[in-house]
Amino acid sequence: MAAIAANWRRLRDRVKPGTETAAVVKADAYGLGMGPVASALCAAGCGLFFVANLDEGLALRRILPDARIAILNGFALGTGREFARARLMPVLNDLGQIEAWRAKAMETRAPALLHIDTGMSRLGLPPRELDRLVESPDLLSGVELAAILSHLACADDRASPKNRLQRRDFRMALKRLPHAAAGLSASSGIFLGRSYHFDLVRPGAALYGVNPLVGRANPMIQVVNLKAKILQVREIDRGGTVGYGAAHRMARAGRVATVGVGYADGWFRSASPRASAGIAGRRVPVIGRVSMDLVTIDVTGIDPAHARVGAYVDLLDGAYGVNEFARDSGTIGYEVLTALGPRHHRIYRGDADS
Ligand SMILES: *Cc1c(COP(=O)(O)O)cnc(C)c1O
Repeated sequence: MAAIAANWRRLRDRVKPGTETAAVVKADAYGLGMGPVASALCAAGCGLFFVANLDEGLALRRILPDARIAILNGFALGTGREFARARLMPVLNDLGQIEAWRAKAMETRAPALLHIDTGMSRLGLPPRELDRLVESPDLLSGVELAAILSHLACADDRASPKNRLQRRDFRMALKRLPHAAAGLSASSGIFLGRSYHFDLVRPGAALYGVNPLVGRANPMIQVVNLKAKILQVREIDRGGTVGYGAAHRMARAGRVATVGVGYADGWFRSASPRASAGIAGRRVPVIGRVSMDLVTIDVTGIDPAHARVGAYVDLLDGAYGVNEFARDSGTIGYEVLTALGPRHHRIYRGDADS
């Protein structure tokens, strides 16, 4: 918890003065648990939170009675009552959502955010809808704009010319719209420099230790430690095979430990044969295919007093964390965190205020 709070403060201290640092806690705070994570971020001083959908917003409102909460996926007709009751702000993504929200918000003047698409082509007003909105400002009348957002497609690649193009198009869109706080950057965008900060940044992944700087040293603190128990240890002769498909053949006689974690726990099948695990301060290879509930590791060189039944193996820690495991699995830290799943026994350690 202290690491998450420290990561948030680190980002807050990095953005230019006057820029608000929000936090994205969608997908159960990237799999880490929205309750404890949002409480820790709130205690650290965060006042604006983003989630993906209405259900997440309702759950977050029960955790944080006073925070501002924005729903990235927008507003759907028929959900006005829930939005109003929980004081949720939709991020309006198209003219239809704006119209639906207006019909609802006319009486209440409840705030909403507006998302302009500047090249991500996923959510947000496409250029033609932005033109229509600018030509007919009435479409926004009665809508209290809390912020105007856009989202970068290539923020993790400093060299990408797309970053500057999106920043330019975002600035142009802002000039054509009513004045409101502006926000362009998530985790990686923050590291592109002050001209990408505007009034509001909304990091997610970096808070949880995912490296926002692909290919460079991680400026964030590792957050998740994952351990699993050795369930069985066996001697295997040279030429013996391990696991499904007999995919691993022992080049010489050795010892193999079976560990109680598998792809159902987010220990990806694609992690073999590159991934490794930590035991007794050493790194040992994961061998054979990862199965649903089990992985096998080669503990031949490890003192049997350490590589024994009931001992814990380090699967994610400061030395080998989400970013390293993601690299070895051919994916990104985001997917590692959100795949961890409900079977792990979770212990929330460390005081967020420390
Ligand atoms: C998920 C998301 C974020 C957070 O992105 P990170 O890369 O995790 O910091 C910010 N904005 C939008 C629109 C998102 O969908």
